[in-house]
Amino acid sequence: MPLRILVWNEFVHEKTDDAVRARYPDGIHACIARALAEHPLLAGAEIRTATLDDPDGGVSDAVLSDTDVLVWWGHMAHHLVPDDAAERVADHVRRGMGLVALHSAHFAKPFRLLMGTSCTLKWRDGDRERIWTVQPGHPIAAGVPEHFELAEEEMYGEPFDIPAPDELVFLSWFAGGEVMRSGCVLWRGRGKVFYFRPGHETNPTYHDPNVRRILGNAAAYVAPTSWSGPFEAPKAEALEPKR
Ligand code: ZN
Repeated sequence: MPLRILVWNEFVHEKTDDAVRARYPDGIHACIARALAEHPLLAGAEIRTATLDDPDGGVSDAVLSDTDVLVWWGHMAHHLVPDDAAERVADHVRRGMGLVALHSAHFAKPFRLLMGTSCTLKWRDGDRERIWTVQPGHPIAAGVPEHFELAEEEMYGEPFDIPAPDELVFLSWFAGGEVMRSGCVLWRGRGKVFYFRPGHETNPTYHDPNVRRILGNAAAYVAPTSWSGPFEAPKAEALEPKR
């Protein structure tokens, strides 16, 4: 069965800001969907897009039941995502759906629900970012150099208030001096979340070949495992007679 990927974007900046539309004329979601479609690991995958204006915020239960990996970009419309939509996303992740949360999705409702923390960080627009691969053997780092630069990015800096990541793949340094855990895997129930830091809407980040490779690697990595499914808490019989 092909991997089913849904790229979700609030799709607000592109309609209201000429600078953003110039970078992403069809929307950030379309650019990300093309990056995934071009990735060799995802050959044959079904890649769809959804936006906030779609029914049920683009993430109805039927849509999520048909999704193995959800990629989420949001920024100025976090508060317009219905609470029940965020709960549905979090629930599907706990049962095995993968989630790739991008850039300002650190403040997206589903991400905050899954983290259980404030997800706060420092920020400053207009900086230069150097991304270091700190776990070169990790599948999400496959084909990614030891370090690469994004000449124009927004700075996000520590402390980043998330639980300690289960796997730390990338670390960012900024010309202003800050650092940030910028590629983090966190298991939630039976699902995996990958938070990836870069992707400010006025910068050409999702056109960068290293970023596009990481997006595809990440979508493949967070795909559900055989452990997916509903949770049960059965009473267990002893495996052998007690003495
Ligand atoms: Zn930003």
